Amino acid sequence: MLYVTLVANLRILCMNIVAIGAHPDDIELGAGGSLALHQRNGDRIRFLVLTKGGELSEQSRREQEAITAGKILGVEDIHFLGYEDTDVPYDGEIVKRINDHLNAVDAERVYIHTQEDTHQDHRHAALASVAAARNIDEVLAFESPSTRSSFDPQYYNALTEDVLEQKIESIRAHESQCEKKYLEAEAMKGLARFRGRQANTRYAESYQVIRIKETTLETQQHEESYW
Ligand SMILES: [Zn+2]
Repeated sequence: MLYVTLVANLRILCMNIVAIGAHPDDIELGAGGSLALHQRNGDRIRFLVLTKGGELSEQSRREQEAITAGKILGVEDIHFLGYEDTDVPYDGEIVKRINDHLNAVDAERVYIHTQEDTHQDHRHAALASVAAARNIDEVLAFESPSTRSSFDPQYYNALTEDVLEQKIESIRAHESQCEKKYLEAEAMKGLARFRGRQANTRYAESYQVIRIKETTLETQQHEESYW
């Protein structure tokens, strides 16, 4: 029993996390609090940003802001796929590129967009990510300011005041979006309170579950013999 507990704890302490966003700032808005919790847990966090974020302001500045925001959340690596803003595809090539990245970093939990979104880049990112992460044990879909009312969360991460402040600080690192980001940061605080109320806590982030797999030592051994 002690061994089982030890194995379970080691897995929790050493998770490889990848968050996939269509644009610089999507990840911070949708999962910034959960990523701050992963950072405190000692997990390895990586960002995969599908676009260059060049539509609203100069491209390299937005990429630099994403790097600054990522540092606030303890992100180890930010990888940009370089698609054009508003033109993220959903085809075999993008699925393969995302899948290759997830395999290369041995991802264990992936945070992705929800398909319940009015922005075409977010929807295509969601579809491509679900396909690319088909062999990943834990896949959770986050909400965004453009999420539709049909977003129906089943999974909540409770956030402390500190963690919520860290999330908001990472959103404000996107200075080129200054006024918009300030408003969204305030809205994020209200949303965290609302989701917290649903989850019987003060603040929370919420997710749609694409897949969560619970593995014990016994089932792990069964899987190894199965394959
Ligand atoms: Zn976006």
